[in-house]
Amino acid sequence: MEKLAINGGAPVREVPLSYGRQYIDEADIQAVAETLRSDYLTCGPRTEALEKELCAVTGAKYCVAVSNGTAALHIAALAAGIGPGDEVITTPITFAASANCILYCGARPVFADIDPRTYNIDPQAIERCISPRTKAVIAVDFTGQAAQLDPIRDICRRHGLILIEDAAHSIGTKYKGRPVGSIADMTTFSFHPVKTVTAGEGGAVTTNDEALYKKLVLAHAHGITRDRSQMAHPTDDPWYNEQVGFGYNYRITEFQAALLSSQLKKLDAFSRRRKEIVGVYNQAFSQIPQIQVQEEIPESDTTRHLYILRLRSELLRCSRREFFDALHQEGIYSQVHYLPVYWHSYYEKLGYEKGLCPHAEKYYSEVMSLPLYYSLTDKDLQDVIYAVKKIIQFYQK
Ligand SMILES: *Cc1c(COP(=O)(O)O)cnc(C)c1O
Repeated sequence: MEKLAINGGAPVREVPLSYGRQYIDEADIQAVAETLRSDYLTCGPRTEALEKELCAVTGAKYCVAVSNGTAALHIAALAAGIGPGDEVITTPITFAASANCILYCGARPVFADIDPRTYNIDPQAIERCISPRTKAVIAVDFTGQAAQLDPIRDICRRHGLILIEDAAHSIGTKYKGRPVGSIADMTTFSFHPVKTVTAGEGGAVTTNDEALYKKLVLAHAHGITRDRSQMAHPTDDPWYNEQVGFGYNYRITEFQAALLSSQLKKLDAFSRRRKEIVGVYNQAFSQIPQIQVQEEIPESDTTRHLYILRLRSELLRCSRREFFDALHQEGIYSQVHYLPVYWHSYYEKLGYEKGLCPHAEKYYSEVMSLPLYYSLTDKDLQDVIYAVKKIIQFYQK
């Protein structure tokens, strides 16, 4: 048996691999440089063009581009009318921002457990969390796989709830043939560098509802409008604008918009390569009893953002931590997605207790994310698989 790097053996990789990274080409650099030489650094034609392109990619009627994915969630929550006294149901297995946006509005997050096979929020668990105070559901397309959107939409319709889909992981994914972004009442995106396409920092909200769109536009720019039809005191003074609502400054810059437009041209290629990589991992790992492969629902045609390596702890002589460290020593730098949100000490102080979502907690104790990004080569991919197999061989029961 080969000696593990953690025990002094030779590592699989001399040059380490991270779990995710951006891909920037000359066209992206050119697009940003041209923008810096242009008249507009913010509030210009590139942001407008980007919003149209995002509508085309998602099939949505309306889009507001914003400064990051968290801002997108915040204005979506505001547009949904979420406020003090309300409850909003979401998943514990997500980045904290999916729940923090509920706190921003003075409302209370309620965590519904995940499906232990797909790791996405379980519609039946949502149903069990509904109370007279429930106002909305924030479903997350975790790893890029669409949540069970039809069953969730059905629950929302029956109970009069607004559905916000956090699609930070899932641009390029289709649910029953429809791109995410055109299905929920509002869908939010993030363009952080680790996501499938990037603006450096950036985000967007898409919707098909004109009334929601108007609220989103106000909320992302100070609540101020130049649209006379929305004013309480319209005048024909050419300089006049009016704050008619509550809002922030969540605008995206023109050079971020230009970078994202350029990235979107590569979305199909990014998507294809990500699917290929997932296929190779699944093929290799489905034959290893110590690994549980994430189940895919047939409704989702998935552009995967994260590849989750889930260990069957009962078949291994090591902890997740020992496996993680061994992988690191082999030159594969993993990460864990995610600590259940309510385990963060801030949420603990708000009164959330361990044991709330048993499937989510067990999931968290067994997982780490493997490298998944466009520029990962076939050789890199084989190294990752080799390292995982090497460690399993050493620790298997
Ligand atoms: C990245 C991410 C966000 C936040 O996006 P930012 O652009 O980093 O603010 C929100 N939700 C999920 C699920 C994410 O992965």
